[in-house]
Amino acid sequence: MRSSCVCKKNSSFKPYIVYKNETVFNDYEGTVIGRCENCGILKTFPSRKNKLFNPVTTKVEEYERRKKEFEKLFARLTASVEQRVVRKGSVLDVGCSSGILLSLLKRKGFDVWGLEPNKQAFLYAKKILKNNISNDTLSSYLKKQKMKFDCIIYNHVLEHIEDVNAELSLIKRALKKNGVLIIGVPNTHNMIFKIRRKFWESLLPNEHIWHFNTKYLVEYLQKQGFEIVKIGFEDDARRTYPLLKRVYFTLLSLLNRIMGTGEAVLIIAQRI
Ligand SMILES: [Zn+2]
Repeated sequence: MRSSCVCKKNSSFKPYIVYKNETVFNDYEGTVIGRCENCGILKTFPSRKNKLFNPVTTKVEEYERRKKEFEKLFARLTASVEQRVVRKGSVLDVGCSSGILLSLLKRKGFDVWGLEPNKQAFLYAKKILKNNISNDTLSSYLKKQKMKFDCIIYNHVLEHIEDVNAELSLIKRALKKNGVLIIGVPNTHNMIFKIRRKFWESLLPNEHIWHFNTKYLVEYLQKQGFEIVKIGFEDDARRTYPLLKRVYFTLLSLLNRIMGTGEAVLIIAQRI
């Protein structure tokens, strides 16, 4: 399979995970996750039947319904911003959804800005945060204004973006020198993926184009002129799972902790 990759414009991918005749994930039938033969990254090749789901049209209710849960999840991210960004500094959240993270950061005194291409989520965020929210991607936003930020956040957004290199160029245009870039993505270099493979919940092959791993993203950011300041890991709590399954996943999580990894990685990088 040939397709564009983060490493080069036209690369060859070998099938790595194939979803066929699935009874569990019939949504994914025909979808293939390929591995780049040049750099090793995993990329989704959606089936013709199941076009890749578009985050621009996702419903915002899910985020709002789980607001308390997200606020807890964002506590670590908020603490990282407080630790690394100057007091009252400007923070841009790209793909801010309904603005849950920005609301937390605003309460801490930051000058918060948000971009959200999903119209419904944008309207929601605007209602809560009033100003500084645009119904844009970073690309369309930078065509309108030239502001530079102390901190830019991509929390579970980069894996949805086809042209990662173009996005990084835009980030560098919008980030101040010594500015902080925070990227959170699912991390394939973890024991739950190694054991569960195509059944790993965070793969979401009808949503995610790229399946990053920590080492890959760290090396990529370094090549792009960033210094890695901190790396943190987190596993999904799976609170709604039945007891036995929760025990099983708690053991897998323990393995992750022993191996010094996790299902999601949060990378704090500084532009040098
Ligand atoms: Zn590649």
